[in-house]
Amino acid sequence: MEEQFVEFSVPKSENIVVVLDASESAEQFWPTIVDLAKKIFQNTPAGIEKKLFFLSNPQEYNIDNFEENVGSWRKNNNKKGSFISPILNQITQATIVVIGSGIIYDLEDWKIHPSFQNIVFINVGNSMRGNVELGTEIEKDDFDDQLLQLHNRILSVKITGLDFFPYYWDNPGYSIIDEDGISLISSNLEDYSIKIAAYGRNITATMEKTEKQEVNSLSHTGTHTPDIIQIIEHNNIKWEKLERDEMETFRKHIVSDIIRCPDPSCENEITGLLRCDNPKHGKLLGFPIYPSLKNYKGFVIFKDNSQGVFFKHYPSEIVKIDEEKVARSKKSKATVLHYEPNMKKWVEQDDLKPYHPLKGGYYVSLI
Ligand SMILES: [Zn+2]
Repeated sequence: MEEQFVEFSVPKSENIVVVLDASESAEQFWPTIVDLAKKIFQNTPAGIEKKLFFLSNPQEYNIDNFEENVGSWRKNNNKKGSFISPILNQITQATIVVIGSGIIYDLEDWKIHPSFQNIVFINVGNSMRGNVELGTEIEKDDFDDQLLQLHNRILSVKITGLDFFPYYWDNPGYSIIDEDGISLISSNLEDYSIKIAAYGRNITATMEKTEKQEVNSLSHTGTHTPDIIQIIEHNNIKWEKLERDEMETFRKHIVSDIIRCPDPSCENEITGLLRCDNPKHGKLLGFPIYPSLKNYKGFVIFKDNSQGVFFKHYPSEIVKIDEEKVARSKKSKATVLHYEPNMKKWVEQDDLKPYHPLKGGYYVSLI
């Protein structure tokens, strides 16, 4: 079974460049131009960088002072004619929106340039593009629809692959679904970036965007196969320490064949979750064996060493517990699965014991 770290990263901020036409051919439509520009600035999601230019002028203008100054900016740019090269010359990648009226003279020079195929021209009077095949030109009445699509936002992401079985991921916005095998899915996230440790090959991320679907192959990062202890130690969750009496319970439990509730008047057997379900405790969700962990849910890792017993939350619904063995938590229960090479799939084996030993004094439990 192949195992690897894969990473899916999405640039956090895209740029949007708004170019206004202050030339004489657009003069009579100026109030509309200002109005549409304002709408773009107001509707651009946080995290996306906005830039403002005027046709024929390489100088960038400060959007923070847009309303107070746009009138005088127009006067300064009024006699310069309609050329886009001074702006495109300094841009590498961005969504570019040009608002104006009347032909832009140098578009022909840019039509073979791959980065500028998605320029949007918003025509408030007469065509700016004429017959040149570059980007899209829309009428101002279609502006509101276009505004939604400007950023081509990601709506959802699905990550899957051949024999894909992730056992660690660092973005809690993703969750597992069973659907023709296992996938990680997310939607409505501000940041879709994720690093995954997983079994499987040919892992891909499919992005549903406002305009279209895009599939990215995820290549593995790093040269070594993931090691579960390294993952536990190096993720950014902090270790906490059990109280002294909890530590005694833990050390007693891990050497016992039968694990019992630490309440001396109960001693009920604990089989799955680290909670006692004896109704005498009067707790709806069970009596927590470790009060320090009473607010935890999901997998927890314990580490026992000479300084004490430490614990930390494990952030994913699946954890690797042995070679080609994982535990998966679902509805307050954890099941052990192993890979069956003949069947080429992951098969359920049995329930996870209350303390499952990993190597070197580490244990995994479900809370
Ligand atoms: Zn009990």
